[in-house]
Amino acid sequence: MATRLDKEATQDFAEVRRHFPKLLTIALESGNVLFEGDIDIFDQQGVYWNTYNIRITVPTQYPRGVPELHEVSQLIERVIDRHIDKDGWCCVGVSHELFIRAHRDFRIIDFLSEYAYPYLANQSYFMVEGHFAGFEYKHGFGGVIQFYQKLFKTQDFELISKFIDSFLHTRLPRYRDMCWCGSGRKYRKCHLLVINELKKISKTQLKSDLSNFQLIQTPQVPFFKQFRRGMTSIVAGS
Ligand SMILES: [Zn+2]
Ligand SMILES: [Zn+2]
Repeated sequence: MATRLDKEATQDFAEVRRHFPKLLTIALESGNVLFEGDIDIFDQQGVYWNTYNIRITVPTQYPRGVPELHEVSQLIERVIDRHIDKDGWCCVGVSHELFIRAHRDFRIIDFLSEYAYPYLANQSYFMVEGHFAGFEYKHGFGGVIQFYQKLFKTQDFELISKFIDSFLHTRLPRYRDMCWCGSGRKYRKCHLLVINELKKISKTQLKSDLSNFQLIQTPQVPFFKQFRRGMTSIVAGS
């Protein structure tokens, strides 16, 4: 007899096929499930743009876990600036954001409407305009920085690091203390809400992000000194 989850998944997959009739569900012998087929892209006026052949990998812990999108048709140029790798794996968003999203049920239809379809539509836009529409995450740690800046609603690396560091060492402000961000609000009504989101990111990830943040913040002083030393030696040698 099918488990409750299987039934839910079956309903979800049927819903995907209702919205995207050219996608087929494929159950692999390994027990993994894939979606394969075509997605037609239309703009907001309903005008047809183009069609991508894609594959979506359903995570084994479905509806938790992060689905993955591959572009099979090779319409998207395999260059880093297009947010795709050489195998067609699509960088639909910063992994932190996707992992946070996967703390709630992450249904395939939601993955399609929130990430995969907008990603592909934006690729179609790029093909015409030569750039993406709207906000674009940077690659690698640049994108991670943008993610934290958006989450903390500040550009201030030092403040972000202070919060992450204090979260990892449980040295956060008390609920009634004034928030460190200087908003004039109590912590409870301010950045506590952001800290609750941090709990959804693994500590290993947070530690590695924190050390990356610290690398960005500190190098200016030694770099400047080194630079000055270089300058004096040139001057002295002249
Ligand atoms: Zn990317
Ligand atoms: Zn605050």
